[in-house]
Amino acid sequence: MRIHNFNAGPAALPTTVLERAQQELMDYRGSGMSIMEHSHRGKEYDEVHHAALSLLREVLAVPSTHHVLLLSGGGHTQFALVPMHFLTAGKSADYVITGGWSEKAFDEAKSVGSVREAANTKPFTRIPAASELSFDAKAAYVHTTSNNTLEGTQWQAFPDTGAVPHICDMSSDFLWRPTPVDRFALIYAAAQKNVGPSGLTVVVVRKDFIAGAGAHLPPSLRYETYAKAESLYNTPPTFAIYMMRLVLEWTKQHGGLAGMEARNEKKAAALYRAIDAAPHFYRCPVEPAARSRMNVVFRLPSEALEERFLSEAKAAGLVGMKGHRSVGGMRVSLYNPVEPASVDVLVAFMDAFAKKNA
Ligand SMILES: *Cc1c(COP(=O)(O)O)cnc(C)c1O
Repeated sequence: MRIHNFNAGPAALPTTVLERAQQELMDYRGSGMSIMEHSHRGKEYDEVHHAALSLLREVLAVPSTHHVLLLSGGGHTQFALVPMHFLTAGKSADYVITGGWSEKAFDEAKSVGSVREAANTKPFTRIPAASELSFDAKAAYVHTTSNNTLEGTQWQAFPDTGAVPHICDMSSDFLWRPTPVDRFALIYAAAQKNVGPSGLTVVVVRKDFIAGAGAHLPPSLRYETYAKAESLYNTPPTFAIYMMRLVLEWTKQHGGLAGMEARNEKKAAALYRAIDAAPHFYRCPVEPAARSRMNVVFRLPSEALEERFLSEAKAAGLVGMKGHRSVGGMRVSLYNPVEPASVDVLVAFMDAFAKKNA
């Protein structure tokens, strides 16, 4: 039996995707082996690879001005590669610090060159207003984090960075709704939240932005190397890319990104409604306008009740809701694959738990 999985990442994948992977595991389309055992230079994998690339372009509506790169190394490696490419001597970069992950990105960049905070919303219960953002018009780039996975906040409208290239870490809300890709010089996302298993990182980057960038770096660390080789410079994370292809097909079958947006808004609204319906029992520390549709955080009246909540939820088949250690409380992750029916079960559990313990 499948459990109701609200993990923050790695996280739930669509059941039909897992079933398809299971069917194809011993014998991928009559080849007598799994896709994992195929050469990354063979025709079976080549078809998977290019299908994943073109599906991603189609689903996300990536304009021809941008490359799609399939890399490994996770979000952390992008924290370093971004400044290594674009933070050239004499330049500084602007970081908008809205949570623990933007702090990490900032710290990695600090070890590469000159960076400054364009805003800092610590303790991270909100998203900065446009008037709080002090951008340096000469910055090499502006770095933002679209969804703050640990704290449960999310940008509802992206800031205007003017002529300065906008780089965004979209790891925890990639593909959650239609996205204006042309407004970004570079988007990166570790796959294990919304689009597949761990081991794969997607980068969507403007072609003219990476042309010649990072010429001082070894070839294996340069974006351009992977762009020229269609992400087959070396062995890519083949199984994770195969899984992402299946998730993208599932996304398309469910109405693409407009379908995901409707699905995600509905799930999040149901959960926030359950929290707001018991204001003396459940408390969401996030400013209402900043509430994330992907990671919903809330507290109970005491830590003892929080522990009881988690253990009774587990017994009822609801798992993965313990908040990040830096924040505490509950965190329910509602990434694309999480079924609306799972949220209905959770909401019924929360209503009953509040009545019983209030
Ligand atoms: C999970 C996450 C990361 C870290 O990704 P790793 O693949 O573990 O390095 C970075 N940024 C955000 C916003 C995340 O949610």
